[in-house]
Amino acid sequence: MSVCTITLPAVQSPHAEKPCPADRQAVLIGTPTTTEPALPTLTVKGTERSYALFTLPCDFGRGWRMVKEADGECYDLHTDNRFPGAVECECQGYLRWQHCKHSDAVMALVTGGQL
Ligand SMILES: [Zn+2]
Repeated sequence: MSVCTITLPAVQSPHAEKPCPADRQAVLIGTPTTTEPALPTLTVKGTERSYALFTLPCDFGRGWRMVKEADGECYDLHTDNRFPGAVECECQGYLRWQHCKHSDAVMALVTGGQL
């Protein structure tokens, strides 16, 4: 089973006063499928959150479902082939800042060839 650790880039939202913390990190264990999850752990400001990451079918790009271990909350993420280089998430953080720890982690893992 593969284990990958990636430091997430500091992202500056257009309307944020300062960039997000530069100490964000993602650790991915395994390779996700539609039925067998990979296990990403995201660390932001020293707080770890564990998830299960599945792939989702997507007609216009790639899709993933991230399920938070603590409470089962789900976040669906996708790429759109018409707009390469972006991973969109449906969480409130993404809706507010146009990026979030979920989308930044998946994007970093895709860019790093881990997803
Ligand atoms: Zn999100």
